[in-house]
Amino acid sequence: MDRTSKKEKIICIGAGASGLFFALQRADEDHEVILLDSNAKVGRKMYISGKGRCNITNDCDVKTFINNIVTNPRFMYSAINAFKPSDTIAFFNEHGCPLKTERGGRVFPVSDKASDIIDTLFFECKRRGVRIVFEQKVKEVRKKDELFYVICEDKTYTCDKLVIATGGMSYASTGSTGDGYRFAESFGHRIVELRSALCPIKVKERIPHEMLKLTLRNVSLKVVSGKFKKEIFGDLEFLPGRITGPIVLSASSLINRMEDVGLSLDLKPALDEEKLDKRILREIEEAPNKDVQHLLSVLLPKQLISFFVENTKTETHVFLNSFPKKARRKLTEDLKRFPLTFDGLDDIDKGIVTSGGVSVREVDPKTFGSKLCEGLYFIGEVLDVDCLTGGFNMQCALSMAYSCAKNME
Ligand SMILES: Cc1cc2nc3c(=O)[nH]c(=O)nc-3n(C[C@H](O)[C@H](O)[C@H](O)COP(=O)(O)OP(=O)(O)OC[C@H]3O[C@@H](n4cnc5c(N)ncnc54)[C@H](O)[C@@H]3O)c2cc1C
Repeated sequence: MDRTSKKEKIICIGAGASGLFFALQRADEDHEVILLDSNAKVGRKMYISGKGRCNITNDCDVKTFINNIVTNPRFMYSAINAFKPSDTIAFFNEHGCPLKTERGGRVFPVSDKASDIIDTLFFECKRRGVRIVFEQKVKEVRKKDELFYVICEDKTYTCDKLVIATGGMSYASTGSTGDGYRFAESFGHRIVELRSALCPIKVKERIPHEMLKLTLRNVSLKVVSGKFKKEIFGDLEFLPGRITGPIVLSASSLINRMEDVGLSLDLKPALDEEKLDKRILREIEEAPNKDVQHLLSVLLPKQLISFFVENTKTETHVFLNSFPKKARRKLTEDLKRFPLTFDGLDDIDKGIVTSGGVSVREVDPKTFGSKLCEGLYFIGEVLDVDCLTGGFNMQCALSMAYSCAKNME
């Protein structure tokens, strides 16, 4: 207990998704909660989440939810059961921020404004008496004689319990600069190697300018590494030296601890090789006096053709009436397995989330308390937990925050 007050004093570093939700769940007449954040506003990362719309959760059952957690799903089992996606939906609906469910179970505010989610959390914190101190960049944390000392530039705060909700390391301009890992290490915690996740993938091929605005809809990305094989279906986009889009982001999370990754694109996933070959034959029959360039213009978006030709060494000036069977088979093969050369993941700052972080082996999955230091807690992205896209990361942050607030001893 703080010696100057009867209330238990808890400081939470970070007023992002997890910090705000923890604070409003914990603050009451017996518990004083102070939120410290380096920013001048709360929820900076939430503000840019879901392209400014904040995909706050995924409307699915617990089993499906757990299947979408890439790293340490079992660790999250208790917290997700304690505060489910349906609880998140009920919470926001009951607090004046109605939600809607879109394709793939993705849940957004009806207003399509992330700021409405943030305001709901912020005003609920205020209503429940949470003290929020802005522009307080925590430099260091220590523990002495049962008290935590939270050292900022101009001021040192003390508290009975300390919650670290400092987020990951991506999009550092939002405030999540990775300080939480340093604080954890200072208490003896192990940090699992930090890697970019849900990020673009670098490729060795030169991406021509005309492809930068191209979205390949309903293609299939195949990733292979050793015994690992995965095929992900959906949309793909191009950046200079990189591929991105929903299927690439998902792939990046699945392969971010693998070496020697093979990548290929199935540009015609709706047709198996036999059907694709028949389709090509049909096109040849319809325009025998045209050349392979024409055939490609029927089969592929125009911005992709020169890239496809260059990387598959397709001969384009051959007339279709003299297009050899072997070349036709090769074309089918190239359309079904268009190769891209993996050149690593994009930088950690470019990831939607950070993979790695405070090892969950040293954290209790119910209280989120440190097993090494009494009174110390970790919630949110600072922990070694990351999920696929679809609202799962945000829900994990909320579930951890809830479970910590309700079970903290
Ligand atoms: C572009 C983008 C889009 C995203 N979209 C979605 C989405 O739609 N759905 C989804 O589920 N997830 C999404 N995510 C991921 C999601 O935003 C995060 O997983 C989630 O915000 C993590 O919550 P958190 O509380 O752990 O950390 P954060 O929300 O990052 O909050 C951490 C807070 O700690 C503060 N802080 C850090 N260090 C210090 C310090 N030393 N002193 C004081 N304060 C400090 C920071 O200023 C920050 O406010 C997105 C991420 C990005 C980058």
